Amino acid sequence: MRNSKGSLMRPDPLPSSASHPVVTPLSPSVVYASETPDALDDQYEGRVHGYTYSREGHPNADVVAKRLDAMEGATGGVVTGSGMAAVTAVVMGLLKSGDHVVGGNQLYGRSLRLMAEDLPRLGIETSLADPGDIAAVEAALRPETKMILVEAVSNPTLAIADIDGLAKLCKDRDILLVVDNTFTTPRGFRPFERGADIVIHSITKLLAGHSDVMLGYVVAKDQALNDRLRVFAVTTGLTPSPFDCWLAERGMLSFELRFDRAQSTAVTLADHLSALPGVKRVIYPTRADHPDHDRAMALLDGQGCNMVSFELDGGREAANAFTRAADGLSFAPTLGDVATTLSHPASSSHRALSAERRAELGLHEGFFRVSVGLEDPKELCAVFTDAVAAATS
Ligand SMILES: *Cc1c(COP(=O)(O)O)cnc(C)c1O
Repeated sequence: MRNSKGSLMRPDPLPSSASHPVVTPLSPSVVYASETPDALDDQYEGRVHGYTYSREGHPNADVVAKRLDAMEGATGGVVTGSGMAAVTAVVMGLLKSGDHVVGGNQLYGRSLRLMAEDLPRLGIETSLADPGDIAAVEAALRPETKMILVEAVSNPTLAIADIDGLAKLCKDRDILLVVDNTFTTPRGFRPFERGADIVIHSITKLLAGHSDVMLGYVVAKDQALNDRLRVFAVTTGLTPSPFDCWLAERGMLSFELRFDRAQSTAVTLADHLSALPGVKRVIYPTRADHPDHDRAMALLDGQGCNMVSFELDGGREAANAFTRAADGLSFAPTLGDVATTLSHPASSSHRALSAERRAELGLHEGFFRVSVGLEDPKELCAVFTDAVAAATS
């Protein structure tokens, strides 16, 4: 096709240059043109590397995958359009009707829903168990159990999974151990070094870090599993857009600095909150009063992540007064942003549970989860001092 000036509609390839761009170019092209059918054969047969169609792969996704592979000490990871797309690729791409999977009982809400609603509809049986209690997990196993899916640090009570115990159990029984490492990130915890077979991330959270990208990632130790995950993601369209990958790469360049800063402020904030009148309890993995303190120290190597949970005196009214008075902090159900965000499980992530079940989990109306951001620690603590005082006076 020719345009009005008679030249070709599609532009010529980019002018060649002896120098190269310092920043990864954004490649939104859906299709890639090959020279001849023979050249395309070479690509499809893997004799040369080349892109064909962006659902099947594109440079921006590969740049993100390589970066995360390096962080997790893996190769062959697959970037997906969201964290849930990565979870879906693992359970639906690797399991079949008749298989059984055990999930941690405090998984991310949508992962729990997948376990409760969608997998059973497809004939994949599911059970939930406390991943900190190996006897409970073992009791949930069946001859058909093919997979255990857990998070190392639970949301929002920051309970610590017994990853070493789970890894041993999985090895003995030939079960895949899948760890969703979103909360902990590869800076806080590297699941492959503790016996995991597959690692999942929601890049949306701390890794991209600016609340402007949805993206996920999955990688297996075994390359045959990575091939199956990739083919399933390509077939079902779980693959990501170039622009999201481009933004995520930009965010990931500063990930380690952001993580270290947020984590160190989280330690400060946890101690600060624990000394405030009107705060009933504080949950943070490195604090001596954390219920799984010893396991946390061993698993996370003295780190604690950027999440702090705490409980205010009082009920919903105190919670309302707290978010109103928390000047400059977004009350928003996500985590890992550059700014500190507050989440209130009773009205959001855990609203579907009965009040009794929430009480069992310790999620009373005064319970908040804080995703600590990059603010000045002193200023942040001052905001909490004022908001707690406003809520409980
Ligand atoms: C947010 C989150 C997910 C889902 O990721 P999305 O990118 O929102 O799809 C999965 N697991 C954990 C632990 C999460 O926090």
